[in-house]
Amino acid sequence: MTDYPALHGPSRPDWNCLVCGDPWPCLARKRQLKELCRCNVRTLVRYLTSYLPDAHAEITGMSSAEITDRIVGWCARPLEMWAVEGSTGAVPEGRWRRDQP
Ligand SMILES: [Zn+2]
Repeated sequence: MTDYPALHGPSRPDWNCLVCGDPWPCLARKRQLKELCRCNVRTLVRYLTSYLPDAHAEITGMSSAEITDRIVGWCARPLEMWAVEGSTGAVPEGRWRRDQP
């Protein structure tokens, strides 16, 4: 993972992206992870599930189900849906488009 110029990792304990400040995992991080796992959803889910205990302990203001959906739930969804999922609806559309090629 050190090959990426900017690692979109989570800031703790607020769980926003260290680079773009969006709720983690941000769209850029999702794209990175999807590439890393070569679109293998099971690998992706296993990796992200390792974050869940810390996320549940540290994220406030969200239910357990919402936290799980935020961290892991996007894995099986197609790319086009990542930006329109309800939990990150506060992000203006123009903001994530800068990560598009
Ligand atoms: Zn980011």
